Amino acid sequence: MVSEFDVIARYFSRPTPQAVLGPGDDCALLAPAAGSELAISTDMLVEGSHFLPDTDPCQLGWKALAVNLSDLAAMGATPRWALLAGSFPEGRAVWLEAFATGFFACATHFGVDLVGGDTTRGPLNLCLTVIGEVAAGTALRRDRALPGDDLWVSGQPGLAALGLAHLQGTTRLSEGLARRCLAALQQPRPRVELGRELRRRGLAHAAIDVSDGLLGDLEHVLERSAVAAEVSTTQLPYLPAGADPTLARRCQLSGGDDYELVFSAPPAKRGALSALAAELDLPLWRFGRVFAAATATDATRLTVVDENGQPLAIDRTGFDHFG
Ligand code: ADP
Ligand code: MG
Repeated sequence: MVSEFDVIARYFSRPTPQAVLGPGDDCALLAPAAGSELAISTDMLVEGSHFLPDTDPCQLGWKALAVNLSDLAAMGATPRWALLAGSFPEGRAVWLEAFATGFFACATHFGVDLVGGDTTRGPLNLCLTVIGEVAAGTALRRDRALPGDDLWVSGQPGLAALGLAHLQGTTRLSEGLARRCLAALQQPRPRVELGRELRRRGLAHAAIDVSDGLLGDLEHVLERSAVAAEVSTTQLPYLPAGADPTLARRCQLSGGDDYELVFSAPPAKRGALSALAAELDLPLWRFGRVFAAATATDATRLTVVDENGQPLAIDRTGFDHFG
């Protein structure tokens, strides 16, 4: 029988150059840079709820870390360390090997050291904690959007949800688009560089990562900042060719699992943001405006208009035309 210590030693022990002390003692020891704050986030991934039981373990390893790094990206923090608490079923050597391969591919790509965790036997269940650094007082927060700000979103939100629909057989995508959508779903790229540069260059007031859907996550920013917004579908990223346009729009507005960044920025930063988009080779779309909210609990704080200027009715799970 493989012991817990064998599992840790075999699969989860890698050099940790960014830690004073990595796995193996009662605690890891970390030394944050002078003048920095720690950004810390944790997420639970339960088999059957957050991922399908037959999910490719290598992709799962990447994604489990990547979705956590997306939270650091949204704060403009630089990822440094991670802890992994997992319960793993017995006799899963091949699975663990593949999971660790995907996990460390992501860790290496983003410069993260796995400094500790907990390993037990049981139904598959993962809890990731990530720690990043950010210069004190400069983190991008949800509650700092101001009336007059532009709203921006990175990349191509909606691809992951289209990929999931394709996998589940509820739609058929063209072959090329399916490949892109499955990559977005299975190997998301957290926008770490974008978040860091927005913060470092002082380009954004507020930011959030899109994990639950563009409009739903935007609403969190509006609520926390006590502001309202108008969004126009004509200014959103072009819908991808090769998918049903109604479904593609629905996925773009409400699909989850994309890990793009939505942020608010003053109009004076438009030029600098275009330059940043070119530098990062990442499209940035200016898709709306922030306004003062009519009341503190404004129920209509988010208005979405279509290409004819007609408001769309939105709910948490989707949207529809009025009437
Ligand atoms: P303790 O009983 O003191 O909590 P453990 O036996 O749980 O210690 O873990 C031993 C060491 O291995 C600790 O330093 C812990 O952080 C590390 N560790 C346990 N599981 C993992 C894992 N999945 N990945 C990385 N390090 C781990
Ligand atoms: Mg322990």
